[in-house]
Amino acid sequence: MNALAATNRNFQRAARILGLDSKLERSLLIPFREIKVECTIPKDDGTLVSYVGFRIQHDNARGPMKGGIRYHPEVDPDEVNALAQLMTWKTAVADIPYGGAKGGIGCNPRDLSLSELERLTRVFTQKIHDLVGVQRDVPAPDMGTNAQTMAWILDEYSKFHGHSPAVVTGKPIVRSLGREAATGLGVVFATEALFAEYGKSISDQTFVIQGFGNVGTWAAKSIFERGGKVIAVSDISGAIKNSNGIDIPGLLKYKDDVNGGNGTLKGFPDAEVMDPNELLVHECDVLIPCALGGVLNRENAADVKAKFIIEAANHPTDPEADEILSKKGIIILPDIYANAGGVTVSYFEWVQNIQGFMWDEEKVNHELKKYMTRAFGDIKAMCKIHNCDLRMGAFTLGVNRVARATLLRGWEA
Ligand code: GLU
Repeated sequence: MNALAATNRNFQRAARILGLDSKLERSLLIPFREIKVECTIPKDDGTLVSYVGFRIQHDNARGPMKGGIRYHPEVDPDEVNALAQLMTWKTAVADIPYGGAKGGIGCNPRDLSLSELERLTRVFTQKIHDLVGVQRDVPAPDMGTNAQTMAWILDEYSKFHGHSPAVVTGKPIVRSLGREAATGLGVVFATEALFAEYGKSISDQTFVIQGFGNVGTWAAKSIFERGGKVIAVSDISGAIKNSNGIDIPGLLKYKDDVNGGNGTLKGFPDAEVMDPNELLVHECDVLIPCALGGVLNRENAADVKAKFIIEAANHPTDPEADEILSKKGIIILPDIYANAGGVTVSYFEWVQNIQGFMWDEEKVNHELKKYMTRAFGDIKAMCKIHNCDLRMGAFTLGVNRVARATLLRGWEA
């Protein structure tokens, strides 16, 4: 099932549970605005290359639209649409005053030089600058983009509108303490909130992490620091395992050292190589998918052995897999809650930029934990009211908040 069909299905299930009026349901589903732009840049060798960029603004009933920009070869409008919609429910679950949006460019950032990436980012910003803004739509990093990308967007946007630091979040560290770690750390705070229900703690569990980019590395680091055992990880280069627990600080150093800092986990000495497909069905307590969507599907769901799945990626579990996994009694912490730490700290960054006052990292992390813990309590309350699982608890919470804001604002011209 494609990402949009899967996301729509979850939304529609939540709408039924809430008894939403069908016209309101339809209005909530259709994106506010879809932007598609052509981005042509000269490559370093002088030849021209064209890419297609998207920004889909899904909903703004609760505040400015918010969400990342992804650079990936598989970016397509349906996927961006699904991700934009997920942002609307995610910001509502986290109870931060935003709507949802997502952007992307169909390119492989690994094939582009730094200066080509800069040109592409600046051209994309030129094409969308009049449709984003501090109180309108605030981009952030996602797969294939990072703090450097955000700095270029800020610089280009500021040429048109004057210096506006709050127009993007996830900017370099001098501007945003704690943002880089936030999604991974938020995943761990979410896991702790879930474990409190089951009398478990990070230190007595084994973890498998799929994806070792920004989210996966920070999640692994935070788990390791809490005494949890990460027994297998994978990235674009393959997968490794060590049943005694992988030395995460050692692996991070290794990854930083090989290929001049742009390395992978390939060749890490203190672990065995494993089949990346096997990783998802490897024996463990907790599976954390931190990469692409749809990785858990009807092909592999029946073989998953984890007791808990923490969705650090967006839509890693397709609805067919969801059903199979639930029947097996596996507890799934859904994406729109589990990975909300990133956008929550983006909100803190935006607030700091608007106030012109910076918090220290301790305050950022303290507030992040507060928001993640509170949101879990709100989800559990919905689960109780509607007698549903955590995914529907989170969806009904998010959809209900957006529906209420929409109704309160009204449609009358
Ligand atoms: N790209 C991240 C997400 O999917 C963060 C978005 C943001 O910070 O606005 O939640």
